[in-house]
Amino acid sequence: MASEPDPSESRTQRHKCPACYKQFKRKLHLIEHMKISYHSVHQPRCGVCQKHCKSFESVREHISGPLAKSNCSKIFLNQGCNLCLKVLDSPAALNEHKQKCCLNAPVPLGTKIMPCIESHVILSGSIMDERHNGKGHGAIAIDCEMVGGGSDGSIDLCARVCLVDEDENLIFHTYVQPQIPVSNYRYEVTGVTEDHLRDAMPLNEVQDKILKILYNGESVGRIRLDGEKVRLLVGHGIQHDLDCLRMKYPGQLLRDTAKYRPLMKTNLLSHSLKHLTKTYLGINVHCFTGMISSQAF
Ligand SMILES: [Zn+2]
Ligand SMILES: [Zn+2]
Ligand SMILES: [Zn+2]
Repeated sequence: MASEPDPSESRTQRHKCPACYKQFKRKLHLIEHMKISYHSVHQPRCGVCQKHCKSFESVREHISGPLAKSNCSKIFLNQGCNLCLKVLDSPAALNEHKQKCCLNAPVPLGTKIMPCIESHVILSGSIMDERHNGKGHGAIAIDCEMVGGGSDGSIDLCARVCLVDEDENLIFHTYVQPQIPVSNYRYEVTGVTEDHLRDAMPLNEVQDKILKILYNGESVGRIRLDGEKVRLLVGHGIQHDLDCLRMKYPGQLLRDTAKYRPLMKTNLLSHSLKHLTKTYLGINVHCFTGMISSQAF
């Protein structure tokens, strides 16, 4: 039956995919297309015409690129958020949305300020005292390098940590004393050797220094309430870094490039950091030292 050409198909009538609007001369080809394209509710869509796109990047192209659909791009220009690509009902709604969508921490909930535990914050003597004061909500990016512990070397141990600010200034870097014996330095990936870790900084000292940078002079009580000076912490798979550092930081102050939807694959899996830096920053991350923030080239 399928081989019999349908007489109605010889005319100009086309078969349109209801999801991506691709057109086919023959119904069979449309069916074929729908079988292999796996359009799903998870696919990002144009907020104007509802077209399904393969990725957030293709939505962006569809809506604001040089070959954008003119009707969609016109509406997007006035009512679309260029961060999350959402299209709002009006320019006013867009303005309101943008305040929430921009990468700042959410507004405080207005609850009572907890008692201060200043002593924890005013730790003395470190390499990063001067440079990050008084800038308000800046973001700090973190990256850790893990070596392996345990009999098969599969336990991640933080061996090196690095923080940079928004201007890519290196504000803290150190090797970290592992908590249990290292069974695999993973040298090809980490570039870390036994020598590096011999006089490395103890973990509790590393934690204190990192928290001091993040709290930025804000009292601990206000951290949870989004005090004015605290820093946003940006990372890739950041919870894993924090776990390996045995640290906690409030969720509303974390920004994870592995979990931010516009940076994820269509199937909501994370891209690699290597892919993201190549795509969005045009930087090739060298595999050897792994640490993106400390690259010297
Ligand atoms: Zn389609
Ligand atoms: Zn559209
Ligand atoms: Zn948005």
